[in-house]
Amino acid sequence: MSNIEDPALGGTTPRRRPKPEILELDGRRLRPSTLMMGHGYDPMLSEGALKPPIFLTSTFVFESAAAGKRHFEGVTGKRPGGADGLVYSRFNGPDQEILEDRLGIWEDAEDALSFSSGMAAIATLLLATVRPGDVIVHSAPLYAATETLIGRILGKFGVSWLDFPAGATPEEISAVIEAARAKGRVSLIYLESPANPTNALVDVEAVRDVRDRLFAGEEDVPPIAIDNTFLGPLWSKPLRHGADLVVYSLTKYAGGHSDLVAGGVVGAKKLLDPVRAMRNTIGTITDPNTAWMLLRSLETLELRMTRAGENAARVCEWLRAQPQVERVGYLGFHEDGSRQADIFRRHCTGAGSTFSLYLKGGETEAFAFLDALKIAKLAVSLGGTETLASHPAGMTHLSVSDERKRALDIGDNLVRISIGIEDPDDLIADFAQALRHIV
Ligand SMILES: *Cc1c(COP(=O)(O)O)cnc(C)c1O
Repeated sequence: MSNIEDPALGGTTPRRRPKPEILELDGRRLRPSTLMMGHGYDPMLSEGALKPPIFLTSTFVFESAAAGKRHFEGVTGKRPGGADGLVYSRFNGPDQEILEDRLGIWEDAEDALSFSSGMAAIATLLLATVRPGDVIVHSAPLYAATETLIGRILGKFGVSWLDFPAGATPEEISAVIEAARAKGRVSLIYLESPANPTNALVDVEAVRDVRDRLFAGEEDVPPIAIDNTFLGPLWSKPLRHGADLVVYSLTKYAGGHSDLVAGGVVGAKKLLDPVRAMRNTIGTITDPNTAWMLLRSLETLELRMTRAGENAARVCEWLRAQPQVERVGYLGFHEDGSRQADIFRRHCTGAGSTFSLYLKGGETEAFAFLDALKIAKLAVSLGGTETLASHPAGMTHLSVSDERKRALDIGDNLVRISIGIEDPDDLIADFAQALRHIV
């Protein structure tokens, strides 16, 4: 590593960041797909290696005792702004920091943090944000484990919640937030859009407007966090629509090869500082190897998501014309003039590649279709290069009550599909032969 003289440290300190960072060229702001190749990494700090090495080390050597003290002041929050050097791998590491720099680029985020899973990201965010007596307002439904975390686990620590349906109007959102304020301090507004498996979008702009109106002039304003796993970071950028923090399961589109588990949170630095401090304490940071794999994945993120999105559009157009198909719940198929179409137009630049296929019939028909698939694999998860299909009623949502399943439109005839980057005609051929197995 090259050394930059810093008299404040009583010596020299290794610096990871290339100075200056190239974010613009001739007044042109460089696009994320360009920045994914080099942003945040200076080869000359690592023997000229084009790619960042995987830094498998649990701890980092200080240049001097004074430098170590200063780094600890940053890590412990004694001095604001976080650590400016590397200390110990539970706090940070070069691969994780490069990953975080690059994650933030996609949404022009001030700051970003990486985690060992999407749920580790969500749990660390919640632990850093809520205290006993608080109320979390959230959109519904949420990813099942997030609902468990908020309802059952935080419930044990005296935190309660109120929810509104994902497609709620500003009036409905306002009524729920006011009801929550009557119960206690609203410490977080937590959204997930589109909702799984209904694909209903949340109007983030409306949530922000309602929040700003209800908390105008107050000091304690609840941040808006949103799980953007299904559409981000390419097709939806919620920071632009009023969210303060965006949460990711990087396991899905960001990782994109179904070979890792990781999470991220990006957004306002002021809000992420306490989350970083919580992560430092409980150790939910991603590991160097996974961070490195994500760096590789981010280089092709736009390519992969674009192709998967194009494939899904073609497959969905084809599927909805088939006699065995009752309906296709795909974001590209909103009724013109509907509220959902309006939210989609304002918030999204693409319809994604994960959708709901409602077959005519029930479990027998759905299972016959799933068992006959030859290219698409029968597995939960989404956002990978390969096409996956699953049965929510019998798998991810098996423990959901029948009443709630009805409310969420999770019937036995529902198949969830995540389209990959295979040849679209091959995928259509696979779905065609599988549909023929329904008798
Ligand atoms: C998968 C997923 C999660 C959880 O992520 P893990 O990486 O599996 O912990 C959270 N939210 C959504 C929307 C997801 O799809």
